[in-house]
Amino acid sequence: MKIVPENRPATYPSVTVNLPHLRKNIPILRELCESRGIQITAVTKVFEADPMIARVLVEGGLTRLGDSRVDNLERLAEFNVEKWLIRPPMISEAAKLVKYGDASLNSELAVIEAIEKECEKQGRRHKIILMADLGDIREGYVDYDELIEVAKKVASMPHVDLYGLGVNLTCFSFVQYDTEKLTQLAELAKRVEAATGVKLQVISGGNSATVDLMLRGGIPEGVNNLRLGESVLFGKERARYTFLPGTYNDVFTIHAEIVELKEKPSLPWGDIGVDSYGRTPTFVDRGPKRLKAICALGRQDFDAETTTPCDPGMIILGASSDHLMLDITDAEKTYRVGDCIDLRLGYFSTMRAFTSAYVRREYILEE
Ligand SMILES: *Cc1c(COP(=O)(O)O)cnc(C)c1O
Repeated sequence: MKIVPENRPATYPSVTVNLPHLRKNIPILRELCESRGIQITAVTKVFEADPMIARVLVEGGLTRLGDSRVDNLERLAEFNVEKWLIRPPMISEAAKLVKYGDASLNSELAVIEAIEKECEKQGRRHKIILMADLGDIREGYVDYDELIEVAKKVASMPHVDLYGLGVNLTCFSFVQYDTEKLTQLAELAKRVEAATGVKLQVISGGNSATVDLMLRGGIPEGVNNLRLGESVLFGKERARYTFLPGTYNDVFTIHAEIVELKEKPSLPWGDIGVDSYGRTPTFVDRGPKRLKAICALGRQDFDAETTTPCDPGMIILGASSDHLMLDITDAEKTYRVGDCIDLRLGYFSTMRAFTSAYVRREYILEE
């Protein structure tokens, strides 16, 4: 196993990225999608578009990368692939978007006009994907006639290209993808093509929550793209949260050092108030004498709800900003203060780990 540490002293917490396992997920996802006429835009936002990781996606033959932040697109500058901004752009970042991005998901004419102006200024072109809101009430046009009017305006702009249509569901209201909704998108695309005379290149039918529908053969003709983060990185589709056969879900592991190890009761004592969110905490009574570990890792660095200890005998009791409380009474190994505990990171936890300045990164290059 070859590990490359980041160029700073070995400190904890640290996250290890298993690049060989990520490398193996890519052909599986590509085969599942491409055999059904779907091209992948690989989403990099969860790992802050770290080039060490993005390189694996590019080497795996993925030719489109998407991120929700322009700063992250800038990190991908060295890769000669098509880069999408997958959050509606800020007018104030139009210049940087045009410089580092090739395409973006849009739902406001004023923003598109700012992009058009910037393209003219920089002598560059930019591809516009218009978003339709099909029920999740996040981004996109709910008035489809308005979308068509905007599409006509975009088609007439000299420096941007009308590239396609997109939809995003299951991110705010958790409205699910179905054939009916995606058929609506495909039909809207035909109306846009008829109204503008432009052949749309991309009909982007969603995220990792569309994968389950795809596997059931439910994506209609015309939809030809998915923007995938979680399914590529964690091998997980997001409608029923099942792992895709043959994929790895252990690409991201965090290591946290034990700073206190004591036998303590499982129940607190004293008057219990509310937590920082106004909720009253509850506790499970596992007995008066449990071996409790505190790790130097907190909510700034990870998300307890989407993290699983690698040792199946450990229980995550909870976390505050800077402390992780574990019950390790039934752990498989014996631990001492100063030892490290490994935890597998899920989606949000990975996102926190990569945006925390306190978490060092290292990469497994080869198995
Ligand atoms: C984050 C995001 C995605 C990727 O979602 P996954 O569930 O990780 O596949 C796709 N599209 C948009 C607009 C997003 O914000």
